[in-house]
Amino acid sequence: MKGITFEGVQTVHCAQLPDPEIIRPGDAVVRVSLAGVCGSDLHVFHGREKGCDCGTVMGHEFVGEIVETGREVRRFRTGDLVFSPFTTSCGACYYCKIGLTARCEKGKLYGWRENGQGLHGGQAEFVRVPMADTTLIHLTSDLSPEQGLLLGDIFSTGYFCADMAGISRESAMTCAVVGCGPVGLMAILGAIDLGAARVFALDTIPERLAKATAFGAIPINVTAPDFQQTLREATAGRGVDAALEAVGSSAALRLAVDLVRPGGTVSSVGVHTSEHFPFSPVEAYNKNLTYRIGRCPARFYAEKLIRESAVQRLDIASVITHRYALADGAEAYRVFDQKVDDCLKAVLVC
Ligand code: NAD
Ligand code: ZN
Ligand code: ZN
Repeated sequence: MKGITFEGVQTVHCAQLPDPEIIRPGDAVVRVSLAGVCGSDLHVFHGREKGCDCGTVMGHEFVGEIVETGREVRRFRTGDLVFSPFTTSCGACYYCKIGLTARCEKGKLYGWRENGQGLHGGQAEFVRVPMADTTLIHLTSDLSPEQGLLLGDIFSTGYFCADMAGISRESAMTCAVVGCGPVGLMAILGAIDLGAARVFALDTIPERLAKATAFGAIPINVTAPDFQQTLREATAGRGVDAALEAVGSSAALRLAVDLVRPGGTVSSVGVHTSEHFPFSPVEAYNKNLTYRIGRCPARFYAEKLIRESAVQRLDIASVITHRYALADGAEAYRVFDQKVDDCLKAVLVC
């Protein structure tokens, strides 16, 4: 098969690889039709997340069709259309039972192999899915492949970010979303859906701020010298009730902490690779800060967002701006990474 492999810092290419096979009885093999390129892939691509083996198939966002199942797989048959959360989960451990499926005791992240251990990703023609029964979700006929793809990661992650901030209709919060990439844009939709009174959207890229505005947010370009003053004036000098960080850099986290009012919440879904917090315990104390962070339990959220019809209600698929053939995967990385050609979210048609 063909797949996009990591070949060292800032190098991915479309390689010819052996087809994946069933290894354990609970495995399934999926023929991928659509795979996403994500900001999380960029941390590996740039070597900010270190240790990924060269030759690892990249990617953790995909939809496709089951082509083979192990003998213990019960919920899926050949021909079923499915999507996957970006980590696998067993459905039976403590963490799966409390809805923190991202921390499943047996879970693995697609597209990450280190010292020969781990799981190949979904930017390929085929992908092996361990624990298929408790990982995969049926792509029912009311869901488009694009909706399934986004439920498997960024829509779930953005919504989770808004949810962790404690947004509700009753609390009528004023929020700031730091970063209007695909994840931040989903956080904007989630915050508004959960009942935020006002959502400010912060980025440097005019096209992304325009999309945030179309999604109902108030744009703030952080290159404007007085942007923090604008936010303070809009909140009676206090700062926002919640800052949602969707970048994954120390500068963005620092900004989120600076923007939030005393007693407010910073909810962070950016993947952080720094060893240190960009704020001190004394700053957190002096703000009575609530700080929440982590990997989205995408299996839990995907099911919830389908059950609660959020996926139908919100115009999530419009973030996908660019489509590439698998053979042009390296170009998809270049365009998405460099944020050129008004690219918001790139997908590979496999
Ligand atoms: P992206 O790179 O496309 O978007 C990041 C955006 O932030 C860009 O638009 C950029 O211009 C903006 N930005 C950068 N620095 C900024 C600053 N200081 N202030 C304001 N804006 C700034 O990435 P994405 O696909 O949207 O992903 C965002 C983050 O979410 C990444 O770190 C990714 O790894 C992470 N992520 C986390 C989870 C999770 O489970 N927690 C899941 C998916 C993605
Ligand atoms: Zn992703
Ligand atoms: Zn589990």
